[in-house]
Amino acid sequence: MFDNLSLKLEKAFQTLKGQGTITEVNVATTVKEIRRALIDADVNFKVAKEVTDEIKEQALGKNVLTAVSPGQLLTKITNDELTRLMGGSNEEIDLTGNPAVILIAGLQGSGKTTFSGKLANYLKKQGKQVMLVACDIYRPAAINQLQVLGEQIGVEVFAEPENKNAVDIANKAIKFARESNKRIVIVDTAGRLAVDEEMMNEIASLKEALSPSETLFVVDSMTGQDAVNTAKAFNERLNFDGVVLTKLDGDSRGGAAISIRRVVEKPIKFISTGEKMDAIDKFYPDRMANRILGMGDVVSLVEKAQQSFDEDEARRLNKKIRKNQFDFNDFLSQLEQIKKMGNIKDLLGMIPGMGKALRNIDVDDDSFKPVEAIIRSMTTAERENPEIINGSRRKRIADGSGTSVQEVNNLLKQFQDMKKVMKTMNKMGGGKRAMNALN
Ligand code: GDP
Repeated sequence: MFDNLSLKLEKAFQTLKGQGTITEVNVATTVKEIRRALIDADVNFKVAKEVTDEIKEQALGKNVLTAVSPGQLLTKITNDELTRLMGGSNEEIDLTGNPAVILIAGLQGSGKTTFSGKLANYLKKQGKQVMLVACDIYRPAAINQLQVLGEQIGVEVFAEPENKNAVDIANKAIKFARESNKRIVIVDTAGRLAVDEEMMNEIASLKEALSPSETLFVVDSMTGQDAVNTAKAFNERLNFDGVVLTKLDGDSRGGAAISIRRVVEKPIKFISTGEKMDAIDKFYPDRMANRILGMGDVVSLVEKAQQSFDEDEARRLNKKIRKNQFDFNDFLSQLEQIKKMGNIKDLLGMIPGMGKALRNIDVDDDSFKPVEAIIRSMTTAERENPEIINGSRRKRIADGSGTSVQEVNNLLKQFQDMKKVMKTMNKMGGGKRAMNALN
């Protein structure tokens, strides 16, 4: 889902690649690209503008940590902004009442009946006594569909196929629920292909008669801008409590998820991601933002770096690299920093593209142990001047660290190679810029 949007946003962030700092000029280009990507994904123009203005303002006010690149930082800011836009945190449905009545509204084909079944199944799994009510008085097939679902999940369905009065059916259902000790009643209603007066009147009178604790508006996320307009029309009439976004498993462009909350100011409470009864999830704005960006891992990386990276230490190291004085003590301190940031495999896996590559490789904190042991077996002079480590010293270090001379040789070789790269980078001009180019 959201593949297109994720790709475009990734491209937008790449315009910052190799830039050492965030400036008014370079952020403007990136922000313009982000805005275009959002609009292409069907995000309402006004909303896209608001988000990107906010992202820009935040980006300019933030210092870029040495540990992360401006592109990564902007990814994090965008993630936070999208999360905020979609409501911040999950909002629960209200299940008060005896029984609690949940009214399900939406256009025909939006996925109301399927969702009613899913919600019943979801609540039943939590040990709740649930009942479904078929109030689609126009389509006998819809009643039948709900009955089939009810049977599948083991939930009773109240239906009166001959009765053409939805309010009457619902009232009878509620009475029956009380008598049979059902705590939650989910009322599936009739929809139309487009918003029309008759449908709105009917659902409005159901709401008035039943006083549901929760009225949920179900909308097909594939319908883009239309989803937002339909949500607006239903909300003006029904003042619903929450939104259910369906068909997020399809190639939805995602715009609905981003705009609906802002436009109707009602929380999205559930998402539906398939036709099966268990394809239902509570809506978490932060997880959704992660999915939209497709770069949740970068976001956690920046968070972790922000939490645990020692800026002064990073600056000190940078200076040493620029002066070509980077030694084994610095190497050790770098290892410590990485370890502080958490599990090494997790950390490496957070780098985009690395996750897959690492799946079959055994990298864990222990992989660094021999390296650490070797460095700790070196004398101060050896750490500062690895050139003096001759054959007999190598043997002593290997013995002291419980490793082999081969392993010591490998580390020394890798260290030399690393210093060569650093030297070349310095020649390319400006250590800091060169370091960021690596990101
Ligand atoms: P209603 O007219 O609003 O009651 O809509 P239905 O529940 O009958 O759903 C319409 C169609 O969409 C059916 O074929 C469902 O199987 C399908 N559908 C519902 N929710 C989802 C979903 O989350 N993902 C996918 N792929 N299909 C869904």
